[in-house]
Amino acid sequence: MTMNETAPQSLHWMMDMLESVEVGLVVLDLEFRVHLWNGFMENHSGISANTIHNRVLFDLFPDIPRDWLTRKADAVALLNTRAFTSWEQRPYLFRFRNTRPITGTEDYMFQNLTISPLADANGNVEKLCLMVYDVTDIATNKRALERANAQLSRLSMTDRLTGLLNRATWENLVDAEFERFRRYGQNTSLVLFDIDAFKSVNDRYGHLAGDEVLRHIAITTKNLLRQSDSLGRYGGEEFGIILPETDVEGARTICERIREVIERSEVQTSAGRIRYTISTGIAQLTQTPKNYMKWMQQADDALYAAKSSGRNRIVVHQ
Ligand code: GH3
Ligand code: MG
Ligand code: MG
Repeated sequence: MTMNETAPQSLHWMMDMLESVEVGLVVLDLEFRVHLWNGFMENHSGISANTIHNRVLFDLFPDIPRDWLTRKADAVALLNTRAFTSWEQRPYLFRFRNTRPITGTEDYMFQNLTISPLADANGNVEKLCLMVYDVTDIATNKRALERANAQLSRLSMTDRLTGLLNRATWENLVDAEFERFRRYGQNTSLVLFDIDAFKSVNDRYGHLAGDEVLRHIAITTKNLLRQSDSLGRYGGEEFGIILPETDVEGARTICERIREVIERSEVQTSAGRIRYTISTGIAQLTQTPKNYMKWMQQADDALYAAKSSGRNRIVVHQ
């Protein structure tokens, strides 16, 4: 605006700008009747300014949380001060479709909202201005980032091939269970098992078929365990289970069932049907091991004994 322009002319321009600005502008009185509804609001709601003029906002937008907006508006009018809410507190006030061609992954437009008091010449607040900012891009990016981070932390805890806990994560749980035993002394058993002659499975059927077997053992074992048991992939074809609240006899029963089911299974792979067996070592936790690694050593010793005494069997550490 320059000094030469007459006041009515500049007012006209200002109105044009308010009409076309990429922010939703709504002027309401304290009964929530609409007095101004700019182009942004028309475009996104499909409701013209003429239609909504003097109508109560909630009659046309029954989805708007009436109590919440009333409380906000009352505070703005009473204190004669602005209020701001972000999409993270409330994703949107007006349920507008997301019209972005690229970032169209979210269904609705995310909005930040400012409510400003509009005072008359005497300083009385009789109207309020709602400013609605489209922050869909920001919200979409932030949400995508959060999803990526969640996926990343999932991936770093699990084994890619089988989806089981990876070695580091599983060992941490063994350590935690060991500490729990030191405090509460509850029954708890550790299991290590290893596929028998897996090298020859790979040699005969190929590495990809071998991978199918690893996925098979993961699913089969998981299905035979309780929610509270922790199954991890400890090495290439070695797996571990923590069995909380389980003594050696309970552990033997569970392991025997796993051993049997696997022995009877046939894995269908593109290279043929594969049958395989496992050897298992069990160690119930006692006062003897000094740390969780020693406890794992006991289970590993038992596993070694199962291997050297013929495979496809279970040995309990004494
Ligand atoms: P044992 O009965 O004594 O356990 O004999 P084994 O042949 O199973 O034992 P060994 O440790 O000699 O061989 C393990 C094999 O597991 C060797 C390796 O190629 C295979 N292996 C390890 N990780 C993977 C994997 O991710 N995929 C496949 N397909 N094979 C794997
Ligand atoms: Mg093996
Ligand atoms: Mg092995």
